[in-house]
Amino acid sequence: MARSEAPVVGVLALQGDVVEHVRAFARAGATVVEVRTPADLARVDALVVPGGESTTVIRLLDRFGLTQPVRSRVAAGMPFWGTCMGMIVAAHDVAELAQPTLDLLDVTVRRNAFGRQVDSAEVPLAIPVLGAEPFPAVFIRAPWIERTGPGVETLARRDGRGVMVRQRNVLGTSFHPELTGDDRVHDYFLGMVRAARPAAASA
Ligand code: GLN
Repeated sequence: MARSEAPVVGVLALQGDVVEHVRAFARAGATVVEVRTPADLARVDALVVPGGESTTVIRLLDRFGLTQPVRSRVAAGMPFWGTCMGMIVAAHDVAELAQPTLDLLDVTVRRNAFGRQVDSAEVPLAIPVLGAEPFPAVFIRAPWIERTGPGVETLARRDGRGVMVRQRNVLGTSFHPELTGDDRVHDYFLGMVRAARPAAASA
C-alpha cells in the first residue's frame, strides 16, 4: 500500500477517458498513477475505472492479469469508483446481456439506457451528499441502475432512475464528472480514500 501525504489514486488506463480523470484528481490534490499492470495496482490507495467501452475493458482486464487483483483489493476495502463504463464493469450484472463483470457492486445496470435519440446530455442533478447546488452531470450513452442490493445506497436519480450509488468502498456514477470543471464528486471520492487509509496519516 502506498504511503505518502497525498492519497495515491490509480486510474485504469487500458481504454477510455483516462486523461480527464487524471487532470481532475490532480486539481483535487491527489497523486495519480495510471494503472495497466498488477504492479501498478499494488502502488495505489484507490482505483477509478473511467468511461469507455465495457466489453473491451472486461477483456483487457483479463488479458493484463488485473481481474483477480482488482477483486481482491476491493474485497479488502480499497475504494473503487466506476464512471459510466466503469460502473458497468463493476456491476453484479447487466440487464438482458450475458456480459461478464467484476461483480464489485450489487446492482443490475442497463447499458445505453437513456435512449438512442439523445445519446448525450448535460443535466443539472440533485446530489444531496455534494450540497445544495445541482451538479452538471454529463451523460454519454449512459447506463442506469435497474436494481440495487440491500447494502447499496442511491445518491442521485435522473428521471426516477438511479445514476449514482455507493456500497461501502465502491462508488458508481452513470455520468462523467471528469468532463466538467466541477470536481465535487472527485472530492467526495477522495474523502472515501482518506477515510480508508487507516494509519497513513500518522505513520
Ligand atoms: N455505452 C458504453 C458501454 O456500454 C458506456 C459509455 C461510456 O462510458 N460513456 O460500455
